[in-house]
Amino acid sequence: MKSFMIPRDVEFGEKTLSYLSELDGERAILVTGGSSMKRFGFLDQAQDYLKEAGIESRVVDGVEPNPSVKTVLKGKRAMLDFEPDWVIAIGGGSALDAAKIMWCFYEHPELEFKDIIEVGSMPELRNKAKFVAIPSTSGTASEITAFSVITDTDEKIKYPIVSSEIIPDIAIVDPEIPATMPSHITANTGMDVLAHAVEAFVSTGASDYTDSLALKAIQLVFDYLPKAFEDGDNMKAREKMHNASTMAGMAFSNSSLGIVHSLAHKIGGELHITHGLANAILMPYVIEFNYEAAEEKFKIAEATLGVDDLAAAIRDLNQALNIPSSFSEIDWMDFTEEDFEGVLDRMAANAKDDPCTVTNPKEPTVEDMREIYKKAF
Ligand code: NDP
Ligand code: MN
Repeated sequence: MKSFMIPRDVEFGEKTLSYLSELDGERAILVTGGSSMKRFGFLDQAQDYLKEAGIESRVVDGVEPNPSVKTVLKGKRAMLDFEPDWVIAIGGGSALDAAKIMWCFYEHPELEFKDIIEVGSMPELRNKAKFVAIPSTSGTASEITAFSVITDTDEKIKYPIVSSEIIPDIAIVDPEIPATMPSHITANTGMDVLAHAVEAFVSTGASDYTDSLALKAIQLVFDYLPKAFEDGDNMKAREKMHNASTMAGMAFSNSSLGIVHSLAHKIGGELHITHGLANAILMPYVIEFNYEAAEEKFKIAEATLGVDDLAAAIRDLNQALNIPSSFSEIDWMDFTEEDFEGVLDRMAANAKDDPCTVTNPKEPTVEDMREIYKKAF
C-alpha cells in the first residue's frame, strides 16, 4: 500500500507571509534561527501580521545549524510556559526541524528524546496547537516533509525523526524570504533541491504522484537556479526555486531518497561538509552508478531537459554555480587525503546502513559506497 501525504494548506507566492493575519487563535510561538530573520525584518513582519489577527506572540530564537536536543528542550519549556495554540517556525531547515520536535514535547511533556526516535513511536499531535512552517531557504523542504533531523551533541549523532504527525498544517512559501540568501547558500541549498528531485524520481518508492512533482522540480532547478545564483534579486527565479523546493519535498517525503543522501549524510558528519554541497558533488557519480538500474527514468529526465547525459549536465550546472567536481577541490577544505582515508571505511559502512539506501534503484555494497567516495574525493 502506498499513500501520498502533504500539508493541508500550501500558501505560495510573494507576500504570502501576510497569510498569518488570517489565522484564528490567541497565542503563537515563533521559532527561528540565529539572526537572519530578525535582521531582514521578516520576524517583525510576522509579529505584525499576528497582531492584526489578534494573536499575541512570543519568540524562541537561537536555533543553530544542525539543531541539538538541548535547543529543542529550551523551546519546549518556553511553550509550556506560554501555552500557544499556534507554533510558527520561520527560518532555514534547522529552525523548522527544531520547532517540529519542540511542538511534539509541548504536546507530550512526559516524553523524552529517546521515546520518539523509533519510526512509529510519535504520538498524536495537535491537541494543544497547530503548526505553520515558513522556510527561508529553498532547500530542505521541511515545510512539507514528515522529517526532522535533530543532533544529539553528547553522542555526536544526527537522528532523523520520521512521522506523518510532523507534516505541518500550513506551509507558507513566500519567495521574498529566501531572496536574502547569499549566493553560496543559494547554490548549495538549490543543489539539495535537485538531489531531492532526482532521487525521488528514480526511487523504488516513486509513484505517479511523486513522479510528476519530481520531474517538474528537476526542470525548474535547471531553468532557474543559475539565474537566482547570478542575480539574487531576480524574483521570478527566486519564486520558481522556492516552488521547486517545496514540490521536490512533496515528492521525496512520499517516495524517500537514495544514496546521494546516504553518502552526503555521513561525509557531512565526518568532514563537516554542508549538506547541499556534498549532494552537488556526489550526484554525478551516483547517477553513473545507478544509470542502468533506472535507465528508463533517467532517459525521461534527459528528454525533459533536452540533454543527452544527465550526469554531465549536472557537472556543467555545478560549474556555473562555482561548485567543484570533487571534495578535495573545496577551497576551505582543511582535511587531507590521509584524514579522508582514515574515515573512509566507517563512512562507507554507515552510508550503506543509512535509511535512504533502502529506496536507491540499485542496491549498493559497502565496497560500492567506498568506490563512489573515492571517485568523488
Ligand atoms: P539552515 O537552516 O541550517 O541555515 C543555514 C544558514 O543559512 C544559517 O546560518 C542561517 O542563518 C542562514 N539563512 C537561512 N535563511 C536565510 C536567509 N533567507 N537569508 C540569509 N541567511 C539565511 O540551512 P538549511 O535550510 O539548509 O537546513 C539544514 C538543516 O536541515 C540540517 O540540519 C539538515 O540536517 C536538515 N534537513 C532536514 C530535512 C527535512 O526534511 N526536515 C531534509 C534535509 C535536511 P540564521 O540562523 O541566522 O537564520
Ligand atoms: Mn537533502
